[in-house]
Amino acid sequence: MNEDFLLMIPGPIPVHPRVFRAMSMKIMPHRGEEFNKLFMEQSERMKKLFKTNNDVFLMAGSGTAAMDAAIANIIQPGDKVLCITSGKFGERFRDIVKSYKGTVVELKYEWGSPINIEDVKKALEKNPFIKAVTMVHNETSTGVRNPVAEIGKIVRNTKALLVVDTISSLGGDNIEVDNWGIDICASGSQKCIGLPPGMCFISVSQKAWDVIEKTDATCYYLSLKKYKNNKYKAPFTQPVSMTYGLKEALDIIDEYGLENWIKKHENLAKATREAAKALGLKLFPQDEKTCSNTVTSIKVPEGIDGLELIKLMREKHDIIIAGGQDHLKGKIIRIGHMGSITEKEIISTVACLQMALKDLGYKTELTPILNPISKL
Ligand SMILES: *Cc1c(COP(=O)(O)O)cnc(C)c1O
Repeated sequence: MNEDFLLMIPGPIPVHPRVFRAMSMKIMPHRGEEFNKLFMEQSERMKKLFKTNNDVFLMAGSGTAAMDAAIANIIQPGDKVLCITSGKFGERFRDIVKSYKGTVVELKYEWGSPINIEDVKKALEKNPFIKAVTMVHNETSTGVRNPVAEIGKIVRNTKALLVVDTISSLGGDNIEVDNWGIDICASGSQKCIGLPPGMCFISVSQKAWDVIEKTDATCYYLSLKKYKNNKYKAPFTQPVSMTYGLKEALDIIDEYGLENWIKKHENLAKATREAAKALGLKLFPQDEKTCSNTVTSIKVPEGIDGLELIKLMREKHDIIIAGGQDHLKGKIIRIGHMGSITEKEIISTVACLQMALKDLGYKTELTPILNPISKL
């Protein structure tokens, strides 16, 4: 495969050369004053992205480590958790709860359908001993954005903690941890923030700390108490090079302005949706109003092999897009527009998607510029 491929999946994303340059700096002692200052500063800066005054920790590990920490620190065997699932990552939270022997009450939706707030209200009324509610803000497997603010309004009036995965939306969509009442928010590095995989972020509210203090947790590496009580804000060797990268990535976002960075994601999402519709394709989410800012999920048209389409994009055009997961394999394609992605990558991807569809027999009229290109 051509080394110079274009990665258009919903994370990991192409990393900006500035971030790679920053990451190539010499490793500093991880308990030295200089590194500690840098690390603390980045933890503080992350609060701006989460829009929170809660504690925020940077941890080694992919996004799932933050999801694991979110559950491991609050759940003992038998504790009841309401897991709202409508895709792969909502189900991952459910499976993590099960692995810590929590009792799962699942509010399950078909993949791609919106969450009904009334259902959440009813489930909480019916089960007064729910200790936590888990949900995914941006369900990457389906391209659906879920209504965290509305659910937060309900959960904040109960004893339950609201635990949210914002792994594929933090930085690329508006997240308001404090205003929405998110108690534990888990996120990751390799999506809208623009870093390679390997670092994750977690915010913890006072309501969550009160639960964590009383929970006999079975974790060690992911123990949030260890993080809180450590003067280096991390009990183990921090991911030093990733921290250099994070500083640079946050500098890039600051230069853009966070709200403009989010707006960029929003515009690229709109552009991708309009392009899909112009090609006669259908978006996968049942309600277009719930479409994600950071990943666009499109139905593979009747008569086209979705796996062949992805293969052709990769082999002929050097563009890597994602397919569907689990039962959606071959049925949908997903285009990520996260982090460093700009209009030039979206224009290329959409144009090549049209050529690839045509090559596979889909009826579509190429714009004149693509006619000679499609014969290359
Ligand atoms: C990517 C992603 C994850 C998984 O993160 P890893 O970094 O692969 O552990 C979890 N949740 C969502 C919504 C994601 O998009």
